[in-house]
Amino acid sequence: MKIILLGAPGSGKGTLAKKITSEFDLPQISTGDLFRAIVKENTPLARKVKQIMESGALVPDEVTVEIVKERINKPDCQKGFILDGFPRTIAQAKALQNISSIDTVILVELSKETIINRLSARRTCPNCGEIYSIFDNKDEICSKCSTKLIQRDDDKPDTIRHRLEVYDENTAPLINFYSDKLFKVSNDGKPEETFEIVKTFLKNLEAKN
Ligand SMILES: [Zn+2]
Repeated sequence: MKIILLGAPGSGKGTLAKKITSEFDLPQISTGDLFRAIVKENTPLARKVKQIMESGALVPDEVTVEIVKERINKPDCQKGFILDGFPRTIAQAKALQNISSIDTVILVELSKETIINRLSARRTCPNCGEIYSIFDNKDEICSKCSTKLIQRDDDKPDTIRHRLEVYDENTAPLINFYSDKLFKVSNDGKPEETFEIVKTFLKNLEAKN
């Protein structure tokens, strides 16, 4: 099963991806992970990516597509895969059509207010990098190294609002592009409940194919 996962930062998309991965035994392919992995390699493509990233520029679509293509041609993707964070643009989506078919596009929905509440509760340990929520860690002290926790700029409400606007702008055209393959699921409830809905949907889809 070839799945694309769409969802705003903070929507719980990552958690859902992990649950799908283990239930259906499909690799999760995230472009962030691919970029981090490729710069450790020593291939012409890796050198190109490294050069782009060091210059501070965004990796162009055609390079991203090349990296994804290389990844989904690996043997563990024969049964399918979950694409997370790709495609981000219509150009990428069109390029993907030339590389692989897609069975379904799952859109994880969560209201902006909930996302802002969840993300702005996040605190990070500046010393060891551990992440907490103020709902669980009221003292705001790292339980691993006793350092006072901080709120990263990325987790401040204004920054989150801006990130969500960028996400909406980029994703709205993709939602249109994939309208005939789209499955929307709300993540307002518990993550396990969201997963049950998605699981049922994917099992049905699997049975049809
Ligand atoms: Zn710490």
